[in-house]
Amino acid sequence: MSTGGIIDGKAFAAGLRSRVGQAVDGLIREHGLKPGLAVVLVGDDPASRVYVRNKAAQTVEAGMNSIEHRLPDDTTQETLLALIGELNADEAVDGILVQLPLPGQIDAQAVLDAIDPAKDVDGFHVINAGRLATGGAALVPCTPLGCLLLLKDRLGDLSGLHAVVVGRSNIVGKPMAQLLLGANCTVTVAHSRTRDLPAMCRQADILVAAVGRPEMVRGDWVKPGATVIDVGINRVPAPDKGEGKTRLVGDVAFAEAAAVAGAITPVPGGVGPMTIAVLLRNTVEAACRRRGIAVPTL
Ligand code: NDP
Repeated sequence: MSTGGIIDGKAFAAGLRSRVGQAVDGLIREHGLKPGLAVVLVGDDPASRVYVRNKAAQTVEAGMNSIEHRLPDDTTQETLLALIGELNADEAVDGILVQLPLPGQIDAQAVLDAIDPAKDVDGFHVINAGRLATGGAALVPCTPLGCLLLLKDRLGDLSGLHAVVVGRSNIVGKPMAQLLLGANCTVTVAHSRTRDLPAMCRQADILVAAVGRPEMVRGDWVKPGATVIDVGINRVPAPDKGEGKTRLVGDVAFAEAAAVAGAITPVPGGVGPMTIAVLLRNTVEAACRRRGIAVPTL
């Protein structure tokens, strides 16, 4: 789903959601299976509330059941773990997602690791991370899997390409690197201690920026013709739009990089819309795997 040098993640995500919807229709018809996604929100962080609302709406739109649990900000770890236990045991729940960030009194990794790996549609459980790293059948974190789908759609076979991933978080950078390695790229993972980052980036056929620093990657960091995937979502002041106004920018200086790159994802409208679409895809995958049903190709 690509127009010229711009990779249209919004359009690709819409296509993926529609394919998920068709797969769900098939599961209901042939197996009487309507997958269910449970989303747990602790506290009332405004951004998290918006994400959870969008996730629920798109889950229902794809024909699946959406189960929402909202807990107060002062929820204890014990209470949250008890809820995870109930969701693990609930046959109607195929996917469990705990919205991050969690309040400070809760150990996020302990909660993520309490989720049944078979229902871990965010792919953050240590078992799924281990399976991804060792080439097993993992549920894979949504944002990097979305990036891989966009890259394959644009470039086809990625074999032999040099991919540079800037960022090494467990949520984006590391799983992105594993996915690109699995797709036979030669992978370099860069981070805050990397020496001469611009020179490193200039070697990339595929450059993935997942840093969280507005427009850090400049046009002259990009090799001519490279494919640039900008994962960053940063809200910055936009005085030109009026006092107190803001806009979203990525980790890449878009106009500069677009002039050099062969293809690039915009922000917004690139990687962002892929995350929920892949979450729905992962829920279908989890629902099928748990029951020994062949996973539809999505
Ligand atoms: P983290 O803060 O967890 O990780 C950032 C990474 O960037 C770290 O590995 C850090 O290195 C590296 N980094 C920081 N500064 C520099 C620098 N100056 N030079 C090189 N590397 C640097 O962020 P996330 O991975 O969670 O997210 C990254 C971005 O992606 C954010 O903008 C976030 O909003 C966005 N995002 C978007 C999603 C979506 O589209 N749906 C989903 C998830 C994230 P070190 O390890 O050395 O500290």
